[in-house]
Amino acid sequence: MNAFEYAQPATLDEAQALLTSASGPVAVLAGGTDLLTAMKQGIVNPARVVSLKSIEELRGIEVSSDAVRIGAMTTLSELAAHPDVARLYPCLVTAIKGIGSPQIANMGTVGGDLCQHPRCWYYRNGFGLFGMNNGASLVLEGDNRYHAIFGNDGPAKFVNVSSLAPGLIALDATFNVRGADKQMRDIPAADFFKTPSAPEESLTSLAAGEVLTHITIPAAQTRNATYEVRERHGLDWPLVTASVAYTDAGGSAQNVRVVLGHVAPTPWVVDAAAKTLEGKAIDEAAAAACGTSAVADAKPLSMNGYKVQLAKVAVKRALLAAAG
Ligand SMILES: Cc1cc2nc3c(=O)[nH]c(=O)nc-3n(C[C@H](O)[C@H](O)[C@H](O)COP(=O)(O)OP(=O)(O)OC[C@H]3O[C@@H](n4cnc5c(N)ncnc54)[C@H](O)[C@@H]3O)c2cc1C
Repeated sequence: MNAFEYAQPATLDEAQALLTSASGPVAVLAGGTDLLTAMKQGIVNPARVVSLKSIEELRGIEVSSDAVRIGAMTTLSELAAHPDVARLYPCLVTAIKGIGSPQIANMGTVGGDLCQHPRCWYYRNGFGLFGMNNGASLVLEGDNRYHAIFGNDGPAKFVNVSSLAPGLIALDATFNVRGADKQMRDIPAADFFKTPSAPEESLTSLAAGEVLTHITIPAAQTRNATYEVRERHGLDWPLVTASVAYTDAGGSAQNVRVVLGHVAPTPWVVDAAAKTLEGKAIDEAAAAACGTSAVADAKPLSMNGYKVQLAKVAVKRALLAAAG
């Protein structure tokens, strides 16, 4: 690991001044469960690391009649254990419980989960975000069993690995970010994630010096659920997830959202499939049809065709879980 400066400011103002005044690359440190690994692997080389750990305003969960506001430094364990989160957003609790490691959930934060780096093994082994070697794509020519089946037409073929992101998009959450100029800006969860077309492009909409401060979720009562397909239940990421949310209007579904995870460089919103359920009762046949529709545009690579079937089934099972 390269030498770096470490700062642990007590306020956001100080943190953002430190993020914008460094002479080299900077990194925000939350729980460190991803950043420190990425630094040890040499894929991130900050000259200055700015910890958010002492900034109290970034912690905790506030519940009001119309929204739940979650500080970005809230740990995954704290989120899953909150009674209102458990009551209103089971899709998030399932996603956190799936992480399987209490140590990661106790250290990892909501902001860090949403901003974590891809796990693509070519990227993690020094071949860059797009897994290139001497102009050739290692992803296309090598083992791509865990790579994208959607949104993979460009050079980005890794998958977004945040298990929380699909649920937050399905719940219509807003990400609240603060710029270096102290101005707040709200980003719909679905617009936060970006697919880079060049290696230096960002994976999120965060500009230099911006910090994710909170996530705000409408407190409206929706039916929601996440279904994960995992190879194993400890210390690994899912192969595919589906998060769904809808309003139950006397037995018929309204405002249906279906979002797949771990299948594309960003969480993958399948609005066309969700629309097939509008105004319908969610039963086995309707849920299965939605699953089929959700994967209609999949473009699997040479070794990940199996993910298409997993995604189809995950959507069906998430919908049936939400419907109870
Ligand atoms: C064995 C293992 C299994 C795992 N399984 C899963 C899984 O199944 N599903 C899943 O979703 N995750 C999984 N994870 C990942 C884990 O959830 C993340 O490592 C963790 O949530 C990251 O949070 P952190 O606070 O430690 O982030 P850090 O490591 O501190 O930061 C991660 C990134 O986010 C940036 N960042 C953090 N906070 C902010 C902020 N407020 N504003 C702007 N940028 C910010 C950092 O700069 C860094 O780039 C797993 C990890 C391990 C090691």
